[in-house]
Amino acid sequence: MSKDLLLKDFNPTSQLVTKQFIVQQARFPVIDAHNHLSFDKWDYDERPVSQLIDTLDEANVRVYVDLDGGWGEDILNHHLDYFKAVAPERFLVYGGIEWNAWSTYENNFGEWAAKQFRKQVARGAEGLKVWKNFGLHVRDQNGDLVMIDDARLDPIWQAAGELNLPITIHIADPVAFFDPLDNTNERWDELHAHPDWRFPSPPYPSFMLLLNSFANLVRRHPQTIFIGAHVGCYAENLEWVGKLLDECPNFYVDISERIAELGRQPYSARRFFLKYADRILFGTDCPPTPEIYRLYYRFLETDDEYFDYGLTDIPRQGRWKIYGLYLPDDVLRKVYFENAQRILV
Ligand SMILES: [Zn+2]
Repeated sequence: MSKDLLLKDFNPTSQLVTKQFIVQQARFPVIDAHNHLSFDKWDYDERPVSQLIDTLDEANVRVYVDLDGGWGEDILNHHLDYFKAVAPERFLVYGGIEWNAWSTYENNFGEWAAKQFRKQVARGAEGLKVWKNFGLHVRDQNGDLVMIDDARLDPIWQAAGELNLPITIHIADPVAFFDPLDNTNERWDELHAHPDWRFPSPPYPSFMLLLNSFANLVRRHPQTIFIGAHVGCYAENLEWVGKLLDECPNFYVDISERIAELGRQPYSARRFFLKYADRILFGTDCPPTPEIYRLYYRFLETDDEYFDYGLTDIPRQGRWKIYGLYLPDDVLRKVYFENAQRILV
């Protein structure tokens, strides 16, 4: 065999002999606080809802938060009628904001968007999703990029606070998505698979500029509950997230799509879960299958070492393995269910 090997062909088998514990079902009931029902190619709305519910039952997921209600009434109504109406206690559907309408409503955009959100809530939306295009793509009537702490948006956050509904917000993306795509980029495989996920700065704003404006937003609206998606949008730096949690009691985080990040820093992550047990929500952000849920449960519940965080041969987010956090029961109960129940339902 040649001594030269391409990275794409390197797929080593670990020879560690350690215990492996596959968790079939979460130890406590679960609320998946960050997920979707509009995944491309999954066609949930073309299959009986009972199939989805069977999957959730198999994984002990009692409530599924669907962030995909969109911004108009069509998608929201469709999701409410197709999923929620069948099993109201199993689904929560979020609404959203039509950022493209900025050019139409100009400086009144914030008031208009708040009104639209109130209408969605009257129809049945139970939260607001803000997607990561904010700060990267959304432009005002002058064509300028808008930061998330822009005061013109305040009516939206105030409305959510008055309605006592949470905002799940995703700002920026993994830090490596903002870095040059060279041999030092730890998400090299992922960025080659999804070139459109790169946000080199310039022309995009820097990662920290986006995160600091997000922190400002959370500070400025203490009456509004913000759930920072993907471990507060900065899973690589739990100290930064912890400081914002210390400072802002209205701030929560979900762990969706970030067991790879958390599981490669098991000591810091475990300390983070123990300290902020009241502020962390379970979520996956993945098409629901029992196998995906089992990975999350294994990560949270066991002390297994050096295992795959995903189901693919080449790890999707980066070439590393993870370690379980063996969280105590009281923390698991809060993260799986109680925290979400307190602020969502
Ligand atoms: Zn998501």
